[in-house]
Amino acid sequence: MSESVDFEKLKKVLAEQENSAKMLIRRDLELTRANEKLHELDQSKSNFISIVAHQLRTPLSGVKWTLNMVLSGSLGQLTIEQKSFLMKCYESNERMIILINDMLGADRIDSEKLKYHLVPTQILDLMDNVLFEMTSVISKKKLRMSFVNRNQSLPHVLIDTEKMRAVLQNLLENAIKYTPVGGKIEIGSQRAGNFVEISIKDSGIGIPDDERKNIFNRFFRAKNAVRVETDGSGLGLFIAHGIIEKHGGKIWFEPNPDGGTTFHFTILISK
Ligand code: ADP
Repeated sequence: MSESVDFEKLKKVLAEQENSAKMLIRRDLELTRANEKLHELDQSKSNFISIVAHQLRTPLSGVKWTLNMVLSGSLGQLTIEQKSFLMKCYESNERMIILINDMLGADRIDSEKLKYHLVPTQILDLMDNVLFEMTSVISKKKLRMSFVNRNQSLPHVLIDTEKMRAVLQNLLENAIKYTPVGGKIEIGSQRAGNFVEISIKDSGIGIPDDERKNIFNRFFRAKNAVRVETDGSGLGLFIAHGIIEKHGGKIWFEPNPDGGTTFHFTILISK
């Protein structure tokens, strides 16, 4: 008698187990389908961004070209007032072009479409080059720039120069943008094992503690940054992070004891 009761129990447990297993398989299938659907949606979103950004770039380049012509005086002389209004127009147009390029860059990093062409390069020369293009904004903001140990001999690093230029541009632009007039920016470089480490230290507004973890996220901007600088996409660091990781390096930042932030990144030395 007791044996048959045990047998019944066992049958029941087995049936329940079979049901649970079936349910798990069904759930697994549902999750796989949902995941596939999400991938598809993500892909269409990426395509949509790429198409819109590409389509917008062409008319904006047209506006830039026309404004250039008018501003150069080839369509007749302008009054100072007309010129200064058109200059504002030109600058806004430039900002839109930069934003769109950022959107395209971020989208490409995400979908791993970027191709890297690595060449042994002296990164300090590339830094000089990027800094040179920023001379006017640095002097406009009366920033004191220093390049510590610029003349040391640093080994060449393996980089895709155009991608690395974007990293340097983003980090330097941020240091300039988020440092008040009259502030200080210090660029440092050193060898660290098989890597070269570059640091960009500013005396700027700093990054609030509770927002530190989000800084490299796409579209993220800290509240203090939004207050002092309305222009910004929150894409620059996301792009820089993606590029450095693809080079096998690391990027991070730390607050300076006397205020401001220091961004660091490492890049592999070319053998
Ligand atoms: P954007 O500068 O366009 O807002 P980024 O992706 O370059 O976007 O930077 C993301 C955010 O990180 C900025 O909005 C700002 O909050 C913070 N940040 C980056 N660099 C600095 C810096 N040097 N000093 C203070 N905050 C910074």
